Amino acid sequence: MMSWSELEKACLDCTKCALYETRTNVVFGVGNKNAEVLLVGEGPGEQEDLKGEPFVGRAGQLLDDMLKIINLDRKRNIYIANIVKCRPPKNRDPLNTEQDACIDYLRGQFRLLKPKIVVCLGRIAAMRLIGENFKITQEHGKWFEKDGVQFMALYHPAALLRDPRRRPETFVDLKELERVIRETAPGTYLIP
Ligand code: SF4
Repeated sequence: MMSWSELEKACLDCTKCALYETRTNVVFGVGNKNAEVLLVGEGPGEQEDLKGEPFVGRAGQLLDDMLKIINLDRKRNIYIANIVKCRPPKNRDPLNTEQDACIDYLRGQFRLLKPKIVVCLGRIAAMRLIGENFKITQEHGKWFEKDGVQFMALYHPAALLRDPRRRPETFVDLKELERVIRETAPGTYLIP
């Protein structure tokens, strides 16, 4: 099994799909490498591509604010990654072929992290990690267990910026996430 640094190096050098041609930076992931909670988005946007870090634009700020409500912080007690590590041009959805090419990096991160809880940020990540027929409007905030790991999806923060009416539902989902973290991944709240 690759170490974190071997995996990151392989990813930073990757040319396995055409997205490498247009990227500025590979966006490998950020956070605590011992976290019990993994958050997964679909792929980097413009700001993320420029900075090399996931969720750093306006949507990223909203995500940080949401997580703060339940005492989660990318600098402390979670890890954040994406399905594809390079930005799809014009922020289109990553193609299935691109996701297939890239998914082994996320699998590697998953193996190293061994999270107890995985939170999918948005429909694309949920369709990839929970089930291809996942319906975000109906199934956000619900739990799905796979091999002893609890999966849940939240609305993508960019969707919440577009449609603030969904924020109250997301608040309920966050409180549910906090409840299950306290039950299943209590170490999350013990990290100083
Ligand atoms: S998106 Fe993934 S598979 Fe494609 S070039 Fe970037 S790191 Fe490699």
